[in-house]
Amino acid sequence: MRKSKLIKPDPTLKNNLMAFGYECTIPNALIIGENIEISKLKRGSSVLGINGNNENVIETFNRKYDGEMLEITGEGMLPFMVTPEHPVLAIENNWIEHSGTNINKKAVWNLAKDLIEKHHHKNGYSLIIPRIKPHVSISEIDLIPFRKSPKGVMSAEKIILSDNICWLMGLYVAEGSPSKQGIQFSLHKKETALRDRIIDISLNELNHPCSTFNSPISNGAITTIPSKILSRCFPVWCGKGAINKKIPEFILFHTNESFLRSFIDGYLLGDGCSLTNKGTNQCVANTVSKILVLQLQLAFGRLGIFAHIYNGKKSGYQIFKNRLINIHQQYSININLSAKRTFAKITDDSMIIPIRKIKKVKYSGIVSNIETTGNTYLLSNAVVHNCDKGWRPLIDECIEKLEEQVKKDKLDTEILQIKEKFGTLRIYLSSETDEISNIVERYELFSSHICELCGEFWTAKERVSHAWWKTLCDKCAKEHDWV
Ligand SMILES: [Zn+2]
Repeated sequence: MRKSKLIKPDPTLKNNLMAFGYECTIPNALIIGENIEISKLKRGSSVLGINGNNENVIETFNRKYDGEMLEITGEGMLPFMVTPEHPVLAIENNWIEHSGTNINKKAVWNLAKDLIEKHHHKNGYSLIIPRIKPHVSISEIDLIPFRKSPKGVMSAEKIILSDNICWLMGLYVAEGSPSKQGIQFSLHKKETALRDRIIDISLNELNHPCSTFNSPISNGAITTIPSKILSRCFPVWCGKGAINKKIPEFILFHTNESFLRSFIDGYLLGDGCSLTNKGTNQCVANTVSKILVLQLQLAFGRLGIFAHIYNGKKSGYQIFKNRLINIHQQYSININLSAKRTFAKITDDSMIIPIRKIKKVKYSGIVSNIETTGNTYLLSNAVVHNCDKGWRPLIDECIEKLEEQVKKDKLDTEILQIKEKFGTLRIYLSSETDEISNIVERYELFSSHICELCGEFWTAKERVSHAWWKTLCDKCAKEHDWV
């Protein structure tokens, strides 16, 4: 007898069936929270979601996909890619940009393929960036876990968090690196004010006298805080290597907003500009860390400021001073506080940013998705929906029944597509017998009485909102604003 091909037999792909026909993104999409690519997330990883808080990953999905993807770019946002069926949180704009018009519409879930570009005087859709909800209130950071031996030398056991320490971490993210002696900051010889502040903080708050080395052949000066324990913990908090530099979570989410402001100030000073200096209202900073640039947009959002981010110089070979140098992809952030008119609408909970570009892209390869505790996560800071779990037992059972029947009928068939249509499950096979059609119909009918988010079946029914159907229970309908 032929082997059943019902479940696409690809042993390298875990859970490929469940994500079959479901919404997905590209596997290297960076997920803020765990700060790694979506395909590398594991159960229990934490990701930032719709409420500006962390959600946990319940399940991960990777599958093969051949077809169209949509690349969506909001103004001042990095682009992200999704399959056309992927639900994206968006508001249909009907206001005129740069005006004080109030937004009278609510953000709802839209399939990516239904979104329309918004241009200045034309209606279209806007993406939603959540504003971070601070929830960390620690006053000191424990250094003991970073000790090499429990006996340890006479190093400090903790660092007391302060504006100065957060400022130093910001500067470290811009200009710092670990060394054998401790942590070092590469500055220009003329940046004496920065150097003196490092020396001051190091002496008074870290109990380490600094050393400074002025290069005899260039304009560079290196200031070192001689602490081996700091050379181990700074890379953990602020990211290892330039492309992983980041804002420590205990600063990004700290209830003391002043810590975040100090960090940003230190970071921007390292890149040569300051928002706190008199008369400076605009600032552009560059980084090779995508994590950092996405976090900075969220950090400024927390402060009620929309920071533009964009892809800067592309990776590849470039000629610099007659030398061919391989350069990493750059990202830029631009903050303009003197701009009185802005297209970004900022509310208490989110920033509403018009979609400027939707591009169709042919794609063939692995795609990924996750299921999270709050049913959402962020792609390039825009809120998108996760992969739902409510129907999983139903689909598992249906596949089992189908496989039995396929064996019985000695049929050579495979599942072409499993998807949701008008709020119910749809299963398409390459060929069917009457018995198989009966099974499919039965489970499609069941699906209209089972909540696709949580699996509840007492109050679940088909519901409609903005021409989009979903089968939801009373509780999930209320939580997700479906009537
Ligand atoms: Zn439910």
